[in-house]
Amino acid sequence: MSGHTDMTLVNDEGIRIDGRRCDEKRPIKIEAGVLKNADGSCYLEIGKNKVLCAVYGPRECRPRHLQDPTKAIIQCKYNMETYSVSDRKRPGTDRRSVEISKLISEALSNVVQVELFPRASIDVYIEILQANAGTRCAGLTAASVALADAGIPMRDLIPAIACGKADNHVVLDLNKEEDNFGQADVPLAIVPSTDEIVLLQMDGNMTREELDHGLDMAFGAAHEVYDMQKAALKKRYSEIEKKEGATDE
Ligand code: UDP
Repeated sequence: MSGHTDMTLVNDEGIRIDGRRCDEKRPIKIEAGVLKNADGSCYLEIGKNKVLCAVYGPRECRPRHLQDPTKAIIQCKYNMETYSVSDRKRPGTDRRSVEISKLISEALSNVVQVELFPRASIDVYIEILQANAGTRCAGLTAASVALADAGIPMRDLIPAIACGKADNHVVLDLNKEEDNFGQADVPLAIVPSTDEIVLLQMDGNMTREELDHGLDMAFGAAHEVYDMQKAALKKRYSEIEKKEGATDE
């Protein structure tokens, strides 16, 4: 988020580097139940981001000293693969991935009915296979689908998407160039049934008016992502039904 570049991020016609208008999100693909061994899973693409999420649990929490006698804990591990970006990235955990894991697990704790599973752990693994900005939003969006696919009781799903500012335009769903050279990046995650905000960060600077406009776009887009999450789960359920029908006969 340098805000200084010779690169044109939004041209005079209001078109962005990847051909989108300012209020357009990238193409999204969501598939539930892609991993056999996991209790629940999801594969998600948004633009050039590719994310895989696997969920295990509720299961006995290890190490035991982390167990909570009143509720389950959500242990999330966000990992950006070394091959997910073109610049060499050191493998393994770094400060950024620890922070993202924590904020995703806190966001999910708002919707998972953790009080139903005292002492248990719900383990959420998020692997970023290809990154192009917006991976925390993509990971969180995939995680709630994977949790639902695992049959874990939840109040709602969580769709997430960013808004921000590039070349003095308020934009939706920033790509890598806009994230690097734009003026602001604001990832947002919501609980659609109540419009509660469960994640909101801001890096850069925007006026109050610009932020209001950006959040309006991001809320609208998050509701569209929500419809895609539900459609992916419905598709998964009908596939399971078909399989069960075939074995019944
Ligand atoms: N990125 C990278 N190397 C890193 C961290 C990030 O190339 O070590 C890229 C990657 O494309 C990522 C983007 O920078 O999606 C923006 O990173 P940020 O920390 O803002 O998180 P994100 O937008 O992915 O949630």
